[in-house]
Amino acid sequence: MQSTAENGRKNGNPFPLVIGQAAIKERLSRIIGSGRLAHAYLFAGQEGSGRLAMALELGRVLNCTRSDPLESRNGCDCNSCRGMLKLRHPNLYPVFPLPPTDKDKGEAAEKRLQEIISIKSDEVYAHLVFSGTGRVLVDQIRELHNKLALAKDRPGVRTIIVQPAERMREESANAFLKMLEEPPDDCCIILLAESTRELLPTIVSRCQLVRFPPLNTKDIVAGLTGTRGVDLKTARTAARLAEGSFTRALVLSNADTAGKLDESLEFLRASVVGNAHRITDVVNTWSAHNTRMEAKEKLSYTALWLKDAMVCKAFRDVSFSRYTTIPKNEDVIKRMAARYSPEQLRGAWRAVEETRTSIDDNINTPLALTALALKIRRILT
Ligand SMILES: [Zn+2]
Repeated sequence: MQSTAENGRKNGNPFPLVIGQAAIKERLSRIIGSGRLAHAYLFAGQEGSGRLAMALELGRVLNCTRSDPLESRNGCDCNSCRGMLKLRHPNLYPVFPLPPTDKDKGEAAEKRLQEIISIKSDEVYAHLVFSGTGRVLVDQIRELHNKLALAKDRPGVRTIIVQPAERMREESANAFLKMLEEPPDDCCIILLAESTRELLPTIVSRCQLVRFPPLNTKDIVAGLTGTRGVDLKTARTAARLAEGSFTRALVLSNADTAGKLDESLEFLRASVVGNAHRITDVVNTWSAHNTRMEAKEKLSYTALWLKDAMVCKAFRDVSFSRYTTIPKNEDVIKRMAARYSPEQLRGAWRAVEETRTSIDDNINTPLALTALALKIRRILT
């Protein structure tokens, strides 16, 4: 498989590593063109919206050996650009949360950092599972501060990327604030966060805020079918379920979609029939072998069946297969559309979505699924 960096460079678009986000690309192009770069940016948006990819692209253009940054924006193959997109560049200072271990702190931290760099250089949109206790440590910020205080020995703009910025506890955040108050020369600091909520207001106010909206389906499909080689049907299904996150779309397009669709249909069928044995079977299977995340994912597929039946109902005379993304299941969807009223389908869909969003660590998953099955039966019969 090709690396993301290579994938990106072959595209002719500005900031080729970044999927979609045309408005942000335009805004940053204007900033680069005018030469009025801020000292610090806050890229706020959900995982998979392209914040890290954009931060790396910005760092890449600011360090490219070509003389015209606007030309470099559309992709470049120089050593500096290649290094930046691989997260290995002398002017790149990535800061990721590390395990706060007492023993072998330095060694564990370095190992974790190399691990993250290796994952992200291969696929910049890959999901990172940060351990529950992972923090951006005050030592990391102090070390960064010391490094940046040294005179620069190479051209370009030193690019500091902190992801996720929410993982800075008060002590680290205050140390970081000092750096923002007196930014070192020739530096561009980029903080990545889900939102501004969990950050110190004093940090937010010193950064230029760039909001990353969820990606649209078209951009996600293009990203998946392009150099990542996902087939069109799978890409469409994944894009519809991804809620604007390319990271989520990557996970979904790798999953055994057909198998999950079958299981979610079996759940619907068992619910409608009201067969307690079958419901218990499905609920137990979903709860025993799966994490809560997977149960939620299966409910996404359950919701998709109902949504497609709603679309089929609405476009009675139109070939609905243009609208549905579930391949090879058109007969099932047609039968569902013929059998239930729009209100029934909408009601059942809403019930599934409510359960899906309510499942978290405090919810007993088998109980929630059983309650949902009973609700679906009441709505659809
Ligand atoms: Zn270059």
